[in-house]
Amino acid sequence: MRKEIALIVVDLQNDFCPGGSLPVKNGDKIIPKINKLIDRFTENSLPVILTRDWHPSDHCSFIRNGGPWPEHCIQNTWGARFHPDLKVPKGAIIISKATQAEKEAYSGFDGTDLASRLRSLGVNKVVVTGLATDYCVKNTVLDALNLGFQVILPKDCTKGVNVKPKDTAEAFMQMKKAGAKLTYSRFFLNEFTGHAASSSSS
Ligand SMILES: [Zn+2]
Repeated sequence: MRKEIALIVVDLQNDFCPGGSLPVKNGDKIIPKINKLIDRFTENSLPVILTRDWHPSDHCSFIRNGGPWPEHCIQNTWGARFHPDLKVPKGAIIISKATQAEKEAYSGFDGTDLASRLRSLGVNKVVVTGLATDYCVKNTVLDALNLGFQVILPKDCTKGVNVKPKDTAEAFMQMKKAGAKLTYSRFFLNEFTGHAASSSSS
């Protein structure tokens, strides 16, 4: 079976959840919904990709180095680990980004081999979820579209930082305008049941 659709979970790491150093408000509340998607993809032998911010301790995005953010997601620390409630499946593809001190990367495609790995699996459509809507999710979605992937974005499976109050709403509009299909996970799962059934019977 061609694995034409993949699930991407962006940066569901401790530091981006309540209790972490750069928490997204209610960032952990989306995890049960994402776990349902992970279950469905895993049951259908479809790829699950987890991106993670994976910074050296002297990363340029940190305030003390002139960047905008407090220290977060430093390689091999608790803050960089995936949230313990996230059901990371066996065989999940882990993509580490922003691993060089001098370079920031919000998108899971920036400086990684994500695009080539998806193409080698026959993927042409991705479902993007995770944190944060107005930074890493938005940039991952826009890059995916630019690289020729179709993108589905379940709005209930992502949360934004909102440095400015409307950032998340504007990010949704920008992604929609660029061609992403915005939906909700329950609608997606209803359609997906049909998709999975027709794929496996062919
Ligand atoms: Zn970062």
